[in-house]
Amino acid sequence: MIFLLCCDQDAATDIRLQFDQAFANVLWHDSGQNLTKNNFKMQEVKHKSVGAIIRSGDGKYFLIERNTQPFGFAGIAGHIDPGEIPEQALKREIKEESGFNLLEYKLVVQKFIAWNWCNKGVTGHDWYLFECRISGKITPAPREVKSSGWYSLAEIQNLRLEPVWEYWFKELGIL
Ligand SMILES: [Zn+2]
Repeated sequence: MIFLLCCDQDAATDIRLQFDQAFANVLWHDSGQNLTKNNFKMQEVKHKSVGAIIRSGDGKYFLIERNTQPFGFAGIAGHIDPGEIPEQALKREIKEESGFNLLEYKLVVQKFIAWNWCNKGVTGHDWYLFECRISGKITPAPREVKSSGWYSLAEIQNLRLEPVWEYWFKELGIL
């Protein structure tokens, strides 16, 4: 018997991504490129998330102040919806939460974070964290985003970050 807990991702995708766990040899991909996905596997249903590290030319990072739990300042992020692959979720979340267009991206971390809960009651999330290059102007979605902007490292150190984003900034050696 397969028991599914809070499976709003009932068609979660299992994608085959070639990447290095470290940062070496990761290529930039054009966001218009075609991507492949594997067949859905019921026994692997779990929440998957994408996150976007967006850095400006002058070394500032784009953060949002989340209007929903878990609160705090965070990079753009969200669940991978049923039928989506991570890159599609990344493009969608960036548009929804900032108004930016995704130009280029590269996967920098793929990792399961067991303690990273969400407001849908799931404790752990399988994360796909991307570095992103974007274009366009900020037009945040008011429901999800309390405020947003570009923050220097000194400013970030004084912000109350959402725990998983504090973790990512440390994991990536940014903080
Ligand atoms: Zn979740």
